Amino acid sequence: MNASSHHNGSFWFDELGIDPQPDPEPLPARTDVAIVGGGYTGLWTAYYLKRAEPGLDVTVFEADVAGFGASGRNGGWCMGAAWGTESLLANPETRSRGLALQRALFDTVDEVGRVTQAENIDCHFARGGTLRIATAPFVVERHRREIDELHALGFTEHDFRWLDADTTRTRLNVPRNHGAIHAAHCAAIQPARLVRGLADTVRRLGVTILEGTPVTAIRPGRVDTARGAVAAGRILRATEAYTASLTGHRRTLLPIYSKMVVTAPLPDALWQEIGLGNRETFGDDRRMVIYGQRTLDGRLAFGGRAGYEFGSRRRRTLPPDDPDFDGIVRTLRGLVPQLAEVPITHRWGGVLGVPRHWRPCVQFDRRSGLGWAGGYVGEGVAAANLAARMLTDLVLERDSALTALPWVDDVPPRWEPEPLRWLGVRAIRAIGARADWIELNRQRPSRFWGGLFQRLTG
Ligand SMILES: Cc1cc2nc3c(=O)[nH]c(=O)nc-3n(C[C@H](O)[C@H](O)[C@H](O)COP(=O)(O)OP(=O)(O)OC[C@H]3O[C@@H](n4cnc5c(N)ncnc54)[C@H](O)[C@@H]3O)c2cc1C
Repeated sequence: MNASSHHNGSFWFDELGIDPQPDPEPLPARTDVAIVGGGYTGLWTAYYLKRAEPGLDVTVFEADVAGFGASGRNGGWCMGAAWGTESLLANPETRSRGLALQRALFDTVDEVGRVTQAENIDCHFARGGTLRIATAPFVVERHRREIDELHALGFTEHDFRWLDADTTRTRLNVPRNHGAIHAAHCAAIQPARLVRGLADTVRRLGVTILEGTPVTAIRPGRVDTARGAVAAGRILRATEAYTASLTGHRRTLLPIYSKMVVTAPLPDALWQEIGLGNRETFGDDRRMVIYGQRTLDGRLAFGGRAGYEFGSRRRRTLPPDDPDFDGIVRTLRGLVPQLAEVPITHRWGGVLGVPRHWRPCVQFDRRSGLGWAGGYVGEGVAAANLAARMLTDLVLERDSALTALPWVDDVPPRWEPEPLRWLGVRAIRAIGARADWIELNRQRPSRFWGGLFQRLTG
């Protein structure tokens, strides 16, 4: 990969066999709807707008190639969950809106499955649910309490189920297993296949995707790009962790790295031993989130949250000798020791967007014609589909159940200027890492550091 490459560095682009080059079409003089960003948020929004109003002229502006960002690099958990929902459910005043949001998120996993099937997007969608492993005895009580609380809210055994250690072993055979929560509303996908398939689909519907066209500024009625200006009736920002590239948005969303590795394909005998026969995704209770999936071609893809770089710096791709990768491989092999001798073939990373209030937002202002969706805190594979449907309804001025959901107009405050931003993120990371260390090594709940982390991250 050289400096001019538009490969995003991920295994997923290699699995697809693509090294895409932008083919920038001429800029139109005007468009009805301009969407900035060719990831899930932008492309799903283009999809639903065009399906609802085929006559609408929709143009997607993408700095690189469709799927260059997080949508083409992620862990492929298409999950019916989103950051911030838990606190809505915990508060009696917001509970009913939280329940509506949670159910909409569950439905979103089905919606992604339905549309990808209808549009022939072969994204390796497998609805095996997700396993949250209790890696220490004390976690069992916490998980069981959590399930009881969820059931008391009306969720069923199908939605969230406790699996004892023996049953868990039949799903995922790892030594630090004291049981697991199985959450049904999650599918494993090949993320780049979804985003590239969506790009093909919307092109077929008549959407123009202008790849290789970085937008420099947005103002009512006008999109400024590195190649010239375009007049637009409505302009929707879908730039997530890259939002700081737009004039005036340096402090809107914080780019946090998440980094991944994938193993070589495992022999069938090893999969027999490890499990994940339904391609369940898996993780544990760590605050420094980890996530794994069995790929359709029999590899194990695994990742973890990493850091923030001063000044919201975003690197296009990461070098394979980035020191965080060793830690991710160690964590993976610690969790699944059967992988000790299995080679790692790819290492890559990307940035996800974090808003100051740590929950997604969807906004559209009818007067200015400006809108945006994002702030998924690294849980955007399914959430971007839901946000796109919400944004579509707002743009088309349709009052719906979706426009009543809590993300609408829940606009985050701006992040602090540097160096406060950098210091704050470092402090939050250190607190989360401390809580994880205590729980993993002392095998007891970290009430102080864990509680502090939760308060700081919503
Ligand atoms: C390594 C990693 C693992 C993850 N794992 C998961 C997971 O398993 N499950 C989950 O739910 N979420 C996961 N996430 C988060 C998820 O991938 C994102 O929330 C989601 O893809 C966001 O989609 P998006 O379209 O909003 O943003 P992106 O996919 O980042 O798309 C934004 C696009 O905008 C373009 N762009 C930016 N600025 C400009 C500009 N000025 N002009 C034109 N174009 C611009 C970018 O090039 C990019 O293509 C992960 C993220 C990472 C990085």
